[in-house]
Amino acid sequence: MVPHEFWKALRMTDFVTHLEAAIDGTRLPADRIQTLHAGRPLWVRYDLDAVRRSVMPEDIARRPPTLWRYRELLPLPDGTEPVTLGEGMTPVLAAPRLGASLGLDDLWIKDESQLPTGSFKSRGLAMAVTMGRRFGVRRLAIPTAGNAGGALAAYAARAGMEAFVFMPKDTPVVNQMECALAGAKTFLVDGLITDCGAIVRNGAAHMGWFDCSTLKEPYRLEGKKTMGLELAEQFGWTLPDVIVYPTGGGTGLIGMWKAFAELRALGWLRSEKMPRMVAVQSDGCAPIPRAFAAGERFAKPWENAATCASGLRVPAAVGDFMILDAIRESGGCAVAVAEGRIVAAMRRGVAAEGISLCPEAAACLLAIEALVSDGRIAPSDRVVLLNTGAATKYVEAVPLTLPLIENPQSVDYARLA
Ligand SMILES: *Cc1c(COP(=O)(O)O)cnc(C)c1O
Repeated sequence: MVPHEFWKALRMTDFVTHLEAAIDGTRLPADRIQTLHAGRPLWVRYDLDAVRRSVMPEDIARRPPTLWRYRELLPLPDGTEPVTLGEGMTPVLAAPRLGASLGLDDLWIKDESQLPTGSFKSRGLAMAVTMGRRFGVRRLAIPTAGNAGGALAAYAARAGMEAFVFMPKDTPVVNQMECALAGAKTFLVDGLITDCGAIVRNGAAHMGWFDCSTLKEPYRLEGKKTMGLELAEQFGWTLPDVIVYPTGGGTGLIGMWKAFAELRALGWLRSEKMPRMVAVQSDGCAPIPRAFAAGERFAKPWENAATCASGLRVPAAVGDFMILDAIRESGGCAVAVAEGRIVAAMRRGVAAEGISLCPEAAACLLAIEALVSDGRIAPSDRVVLLNTGAATKYVEAVPLTLPLIENPQSVDYARLA
């Protein structure tokens, strides 16, 4: 058995029971393509008692280190081969130097920049493309702030499927390149991601494509959920005190919270204590912190959204209430940080630990600093920061002015230090 085909040796049992509308609990069958219900997302539900009887954490520990090791908690039906680039099981790195500079004794970074296509979008899109292929879809489409398009393009190519990507015209150039290079039909749009979303929605009937927008199909969320499963396993089936997450559409935060609930129901966690979930946005686009502060369950769209942390430039999220519910249930909060400080925080964070922090994660550093100073995070708390993408994808965000050595034959070494 070649390593990447390990799932063929696993017992092929599908534990999905149904899909459930997040807004009103309506049950929907999982054996066909489903999108939204009442304009809102769906949960994938499992027979967790059957999962508990079928697999134990020790079994999982012996499997290869990709997100497919959690297949009993994933929507992979019998006989379905994943579309995979080897994604998952990213390292959780201790960050003592950065932690100390933020006033924390126990800071960790889960480094999602090491995933295929350099962002955690590969988790969700590996799952969505796998399920799309399973249901006979040939053509996929996505509106994107950048990284989701890159991931869809890569996984569509991997699956031999057709992809259409729509992105704002000022999307980072690396994202534009990765989509075009992977053969996706890639379009720049004079508008925001919400305008791109409308293009995909309105074109569905004419183009016959499958809409892979965040939370508009149920499976990207299950892929993102594996971040939470990994975190629990990597900390010996315990959870940290605080999880700080850069929030756009919110799938990562919602997905981790779902993962923790499923693990608790399975009885796999060594402590019942759940982490406080912290959603971070830029004050250039902060619909979630605004709704959180106002005590509202639904977020009003943000006008004139602008941030260099392109993954956070989501003025309206279809799963807003799922994000806000998770934050409140967990005892966490939502924080907006100063847009103008993000790039400096990125330089400081990368220089402190050598981890390739994206601007979205840099925003989280500013949030941590604020929460430590107002006492909502204690210095001894175990805090995990999600580094959702690689710094190197944001070429335009980080201006460089490097000194030039004009005469390599006569370097004045005294001036280098
Ligand atoms: C997409 C993205 C986010 C936001 O993720 P959501 O699941 O939409 O909340 C954060 N950081 C990066 C780098 C992203 O690409």
